Amino acid sequence: MEPPNIERLDERTVQRIAAGEVVERPASVVKELIENSLDAGASRVAVSVEAGGTEGVRVRDDGVGIPADQLEAAVAEHATSKIGDIEDLDRGVGTLGFRGEALYTVGAVSRLTVRSRPPDAEAGAEITVEGGDVGEVRPAGCPEGTTVEVTDLFYNTPARKKFLKRTTTEFDRVNTVVTGYALANPDVAVSLEHDGRETFATEGNGDLRSAVLAVYGREVAEAMVDVAWEPDGGVDSAHAAGDPDDPPVRRVTGLVSHPEATRSTREYLATYVNDRYVTASALREAALDAYGGQLAPDRYPFAVLFVEVPPGDVDVNVHPRKLEVRFDEEPAVRAAVEEAVESALLDHGLIRSTAPRG
Ligand code: ADP
Ligand code: MG
Repeated sequence: MEPPNIERLDERTVQRIAAGEVVERPASVVKELIENSLDAGASRVAVSVEAGGTEGVRVRDDGVGIPADQLEAAVAEHATSKIGDIEDLDRGVGTLGFRGEALYTVGAVSRLTVRSRPPDAEAGAEITVEGGDVGEVRPAGCPEGTTVEVTDLFYNTPARKKFLKRTTTEFDRVNTVVTGYALANPDVAVSLEHDGRETFATEGNGDLRSAVLAVYGREVAEAMVDVAWEPDGGVDSAHAAGDPDDPPVRRVTGLVSHPEATRSTREYLATYVNDRYVTASALREAALDAYGGQLAPDRYPFAVLFVEVPPGDVDVNVHPRKLEVRFDEEPAVRAAVEEAVESALLDHGLIRSTAPRG
């Protein structure tokens, strides 16, 4: 065998490999674009996709917009308006994004157009990126806010493209993502359209139950009961009393369904930590435990649960694609969620009270 010839990969190849790490499929593009819209303070976010997102993704918002002279920076690598340095990161980030790589990455593996008009600007402008080639900034007629369009995802990375599933499967994932953000942000009007047909549209009136109604329909919305849990004595009294120890869980709120309104997958157990959509199996299990065996085998309830913990007790700064979180005080978080769901179900007579657990 010949000795190896080690060569540095060219920049484009490196860019495409790195892009594949963040953008795995249409749903990951949708996630990044929605997060940008929410970070921009949008009150409306309209998502529309073609062929499950494999042919096109468009996200339009009415947020702060991007000034024409910032469009190039917006699509550049590691360029962000959200943090300045590592200290900002240590203080805790208040925005969903901060890495400054989403638009750059998406632009590397698709045809990307960012069109925007800040509310005070007289005219809009747009920039297009094709497989990493950044075009000129051009004037463009557009409403206030930002529209991002992505077509031909993975056209220049055929191996990735082949890895995509059937359009219905890709759309299911897109739907899950958009639903997740719609429920987390009942004050934002979020809509989803697939091949020109509306899937759902929330009102953005701030009411979680009305968002659930828009997303899951009347039957589910009517089967949901309120969850509202605070530590004994409440968070505020603990603070007022000058308690230096933050309670490990500040609040658990949301909605859960009665034990008969179920589906055959866990997908409808949506959990959020400090308003971030996460898939924490610990939280799902705690919620399921609260039903205490009153669910039919292999049936799972609907839940939308918001858990608030001290920001320093949870690590969300994990890989951008991963939704898992780590809690410093996992047992306490589990116990709080189980107690919260259990007392909501008990209060509404939906489960029988069980003997105290030992
Ligand atoms: P990040 O979100 O991590 O900052 P992105 O690549 O997603 O990185 O976006 C780069 C920058 O472009 C953002 O920091 C923001 O300033 C701007 N931007 C992106 N999308 C929007 C949007 N929908 N509205 C306003 N500004 C946006
Ligand atoms: Mg972003």
